[in-house]
Amino acid sequence: MKKKGLVSTCIILAVAIFMACFAGISFYKKRHFVEDVVTEGSAVTRTEKLSKYNQYLANSFGDVDIYVLEGEEEGGSVLILGGTHANEPAGHMAAIVMLEQFKPTKGTVYVIPNICQSGLSHNDPLEGTPQYIHFTTANGDVRTFHFGSRASNPIDQWPDPDTYLHTSGDWTPRYENASKNTTQTLSGSEVRNQNRCYPGIANGTLTEKVSYAVTNMINTLKIDMVIDLHESSPEYAVNNAIVAHEKALEIAGISATINLEAEQGIKIKVEPSPVNLRGLTHRELGDYTDAFALLCEVGNPSQGRFRGYTDEALAITGKDPCYKVASEIHNGALLYVDYSSGDFPISLRVARHVATVAALIENMGFDYPDKEVIIDNVPDYQEMVDGDNLGLWLR
Ligand SMILES: [Zn+2]
Repeated sequence: MKKKGLVSTCIILAVAIFMACFAGISFYKKRHFVEDVVTEGSAVTRTEKLSKYNQYLANSFGDVDIYVLEGEEEGGSVLILGGTHANEPAGHMAAIVMLEQFKPTKGTVYVIPNICQSGLSHNDPLEGTPQYIHFTTANGDVRTFHFGSRASNPIDQWPDPDTYLHTSGDWTPRYENASKNTTQTLSGSEVRNQNRCYPGIANGTLTEKVSYAVTNMINTLKIDMVIDLHESSPEYAVNNAIVAHEKALEIAGISATINLEAEQGIKIKVEPSPVNLRGLTHRELGDYTDAFALLCEVGNPSQGRFRGYTDEALAITGKDPCYKVASEIHNGALLYVDYSSGDFPISLRVARHVATVAALIENMGFDYPDKEVIIDNVPDYQEMVDGDNLGLWLR
């Protein structure tokens, strides 16, 4: 090889090694960053490991903590799931706010804020999303949380099949009108979508193992209600909505019309869980457990396809010039949220989730007094919105 060619080869190799190290360190740090959840001063009485409900999860990346908040008086029980889709930060953060703030006086609240820990540990390639988001608490502490991916990390399960065929594994339905659709196929990458893998498989992929543990946990503990917290693109039709399994439709309807819209001015739709769409919490956890299964969606501009430059500020403020333009075309008909304000801050998005969860729990107690759960110290919706700083609701 000529000397000139050797020199340029060495330079290119050195640059490639530098880039690989630079990216590798970033990936490694993201993968191993552990969020702090502050239980001191909270109503958390104990924690459990999710592997208690699926032995195959033990010591794996999906073996997350379950935070248990027990009231003094016996009552019903609720499971709150955050972080199912780790690129939907309000779902993740709302679960953390609730576990740090809620004080049940009757019944038990279980919170898993990072149900898809694997999804939190990486970002979607080519989406340009931030790796972390930060909030400053009332004490001036800066707390750091993951902004992750919609799907589990390929490090944990790879390769994806060409086609993902949903299966209910060995589960037997507990609901007489459970979905009979056993042929759902999706694109192969959906095999890493936590919310397409319920009711789960004990010794399946990591994503299926996690789903199995959740289903088994609900059945083992006879949990009365499960609420899965999400966000969705403003142009997606199921937005600012509660999606309810048939068994939970009445509770959702009363919560939306009376507690949220009439009493607090929060407009929210109720959507019935589609019978043939398989693998989702609001379908499978309603079919394969006795719980009322619900999923909450709130509009998130940092997730949609119209969005512009995507950084931490967009995830926190929801302020996006491209969505503002979209909201002004055809009188806003392109979007399913009112984006006339030009923003949709995370304090508002989390406030909607907190208010919705509180309303659903309250209505379960009205309809079924033996399942009553009473919670003190629920953050006030209007105070959260007006404060415009989610850090004020973190410990
Ligand atoms: Zn989602």
